[in-house]
Amino acid sequence: MSLLVIGTVAFDAIETPFGKTDKIVGGAATYASLAASYFYNDVKIVAVVGDDFPQSEIADFKQHHINTEGLQIKKGEKSFFWSGRYHNDMNSRDTLATELNVLADFDPIIPESYQDCEYLMLGNLTPQVQQTVIKRLKNRPKLVVMDTMNFWMDIAMDDLIETIKMVDVLTINDAEARQLSGEYSLVKAARKILEMGPKYLIIKKGEHGALLFHEDKVFSAPALPLAEVFDPTGAGDTFAGGFIGYLAKVGTINFNNMKNAIIFGSALASFCVEKFGTEKIKNLTQEEVSERVQQFISLAQFEITL
Ligand code: AMP
Repeated sequence: MSLLVIGTVAFDAIETPFGKTDKIVGGAATYASLAASYFYNDVKIVAVVGDDFPQSEIADFKQHHINTEGLQIKKGEKSFFWSGRYHNDMNSRDTLATELNVLADFDPIIPESYQDCEYLMLGNLTPQVQQTVIKRLKNRPKLVVMDTMNFWMDIAMDDLIETIKMVDVLTINDAEARQLSGEYSLVKAARKILEMGPKYLIIKKGEHGALLFHEDKVFSAPALPLAEVFDPTGAGDTFAGGFIGYLAKVGTINFNNMKNAIIFGSALASFCVEKFGTEKIKNLTQEEVSERVQQFISLAQFEITL
């Protein structure tokens, strides 16, 4: 039994109102696998990088007990590069550059030792590649969670819709839910997206928390009010990794466990934004995670006397 994470392992250059970074390590699979590793100790990664990717970063994955056998390193090629600039509200951003590099012809090879995968996190990546990974697993995993973004809606909508049909849970942000459904109301958007195939839909609303939709049920999770947000990059991937990592740990898929998983994912995402890049998410203790989850519980708890 294992948790397989696919997605980008990348270099990012980020500008926020608080500062600017040169190329630092990022990528959807980087954040998601690190987050999942706090809950589950059999996390495996399938991704591709160029030989410009630092060995020390691969060692950091290993330190978190993340299996990197499926991480391809392409000689003489460059890693995926993304650059973004956040607006003052830190909720919206402009993509300044997306250089696919090694991702352009990525063939996701699944090592034989990964075939025991029960939980699959399809992190943000070419929808065609996400689909190929599902097809290359001999047994369909117990749970398939997919994350994506507007970039793929703009350039590969048909492939994206085909892939969405094959998953159990889709996680996207509010703007992406509107783009995918053509509906402004998130409730109407959710109805339309659930009709596309997934059983569960999570709509992330940045500093306003997240909504979980399943059949006619809705759950609303808060986001922790933080005094300082340094860099929201990777928060969505960290959320998704924490979410599926928690579900893999508890092992039973139902609406109640999904609700708890959203709180664990949100707790990890709240750490991610406190520092640039992966710095914070790489160096957490279990105590810090538990304390943060407790803060979430207190935040949303109230008693009514009638
Ligand atoms: P998030 O802030 O959760 O949307 O994730 C940001 C991360 O996604 C960054 O570390 C980027 O390297 C990565 N990323 C940006 N654009 C793409 C894309 N089109 N496909 C896959 N990953 C991407």
